[in-house]
Amino acid sequence: MTDRTQLLQTLDALLQPERFRDYGPNGLQVEGAANVRKIVSGVTASRALIEAAIAAQADTIFVHHGLFWRGQDGRVTGWMKQRLALLLAHDINLFAYHLPLDAHPELGNNAQLGLKLGLQAQSRFGEQDLGFLGERTESASFDTAEVLAQHIEAQLNRPVVLVNVARRAIKTIAWCSGGAQGYFEAAIAAGADAFITGEISEPQAHYARECGVAYLACGHHASERFGAPAVAAHVAAQLGLAHEFIDIDNPA
Ligand SMILES: [Zn+2]
Repeated sequence: MTDRTQLLQTLDALLQPERFRDYGPNGLQVEGAANVRKIVSGVTASRALIEAAIAAQADTIFVHHGLFWRGQDGRVTGWMKQRLALLLAHDINLFAYHLPLDAHPELGNNAQLGLKLGLQAQSRFGEQDLGFLGERTESASFDTAEVLAQHIEAQLNRPVVLVNVARRAIKTIAWCSGGAQGYFEAAIAAGADAFITGEISEPQAHYARECGVAYLACGHHASERFGAPAVAAHVAAQLGLAHEFIDIDNPA
């Protein structure tokens, strides 16, 4: 058991949110019980995750996508009311870390996605150094972008959208989890043969074709399932807490 303040300090020390310009508040977003015994980690603070955490008798939820984002109008109505009502009624702490969770060099979404896909990061690229750039751990390259796509489909257990234009082996691979479409041009500039992220928007297909760099979109949720449980398990072990990762399936 620990207390909420100790948990917040431990997470802040690990993830260093003060280093990032983010789209929402990092840290404790909703205050619940003072004493913490069990953390449920997940990707998004959806109603389904909150209900699952209640069923799992957790007092604390740790997520990548919290409740509050820049651009919201601040009204507590509809889905927001329902989620907040559940958290408050059950005295559950909600901790959310967005970009700091993507960026952590060992436990973050990008580091853990690289581990899952067998990629070794050698450098970082893009705004706030969130993008990872490296190569395949086992051998020097993937023979083609299709081979890389099949590898990702097998590892993440879901289809991948491939814009395949690279007429060469895929050696240098850039990746950035989630909705990192905007990092594609920086990945091209960094010398990548292929770029892996969660989502694709219309312009990136053209950039891929025109610049000869393969684009692989493997799902926002699917690419961001690994950081939250890695960090929560690490901190739970450090502080003597129970931890359970609950994956709420999401096709997006
Ligand atoms: Zn995300």
